[in-house]
Amino acid sequence: MRTEAIVLAALSLGSTSPFLAAQDSLAVGTVTARRGEKASGWLEVPAGADEGTRIPVSVVHGAKPGPVLALVAGTHGYEYTSVMALPRVLARLDPARMAGSVILVHMANPPSFYGRRIYYSPDGKNLNRVYPGRPDGTVSERIAHTITREVIDKATHLADMHCGDGNESLRPYSYWQVSGNAAVDEANKQMVLAFGLDHVVIDRERPKDPAKSAYTSNTAVLRGKPALTTESGGMGLTDADSVGAQEAGAMSLVQHLGIMDAPSVRVDKPVWIDRSEVLRAPAAGVWHPVAAKMQTVAAGTLLGRVRDPFGRELQEVRAPFAGEVLYVVGTPPASEGEPLAFVGHLLDGEPQP
Ligand SMILES: [Zn+2]
Repeated sequence: MRTEAIVLAALSLGSTSPFLAAQDSLAVGTVTARRGEKASGWLEVPAGADEGTRIPVSVVHGAKPGPVLALVAGTHGYEYTSVMALPRVLARLDPARMAGSVILVHMANPPSFYGRRIYYSPDGKNLNRVYPGRPDGTVSERIAHTITREVIDKATHLADMHCGDGNESLRPYSYWQVSGNAAVDEANKQMVLAFGLDHVVIDRERPKDPAKSAYTSNTAVLRGKPALTTESGGMGLTDADSVGAQEAGAMSLVQHLGIMDAPSVRVDKPVWIDRSEVLRAPAAGVWHPVAAKMQTVAAGTLLGRVRDPFGRELQEVRAPFAGEVLYVVGTPPASEGEPLAFVGHLLDGEPQP
């Protein structure tokens, strides 16, 4: 497995990427780690159209060359499980024993974290929809640009670690992105299995233009670098199971890529979800959920109701097809066009490429 992982890593390197892990030092933002070292510091995002920020980052540069895994936490400000998990991962990584490197972005979106913001940064934009970003944009776009240049361009593999946002009651799952690049897609799949979450949403819908990649993980994939997006936890909680799944999954990826020996939590036979739909609020109002996460539903099963502020029903929200509730919004605000629930259809068998 180790040899195979390294071959995949080599295949994944784009023509413009030098084999960075082979270098004597690895620099990310203000942080430089020499071979066999661990260092922490900041990615500076200067002020521009609006206020700047700085992103906490660690670099663990292994004693021997190998893949460079980027772990990105806290893209959304009210999603805490990955922010809590990465310091534990950092403590467990021993550069003296590593063949390869790990870049840990501890908190991708400090303005949203410290502002306790759901979905949107202070500029009103969703950081996970503005990649690859731009240097002259608002703060979300400048953060995306900085992470693209300093982290994604310097990595060979990436995990973007999410959970249900502050209003989302979510069951754990990963996204397997199918991009059309067979080698990368297979490596994406192997990373998803290695991370260990036992439900996997098959996602074939991400943009194909690297200049409009929108998502963190898609930015890596469209640059030829295998990646996945994880979801564990939600509702602003930091429960041990949800944080532990992020930590265990990250260490299992380190093992899978042959960077360092660590416990594997690989799942060989996950539940594949071949069709999924986010159900959005048809109108602003007060959300009364009926269904719960992990609930099995039939086509037409009532998921909840949107009422007006006086208590009059505006709309019932029902499952569009049979499957499972992957998440349901668990707090009352329903804003027009925003998610209320996510339903997935379970594939019978193995997915085709
Ligand atoms: Zn998120």
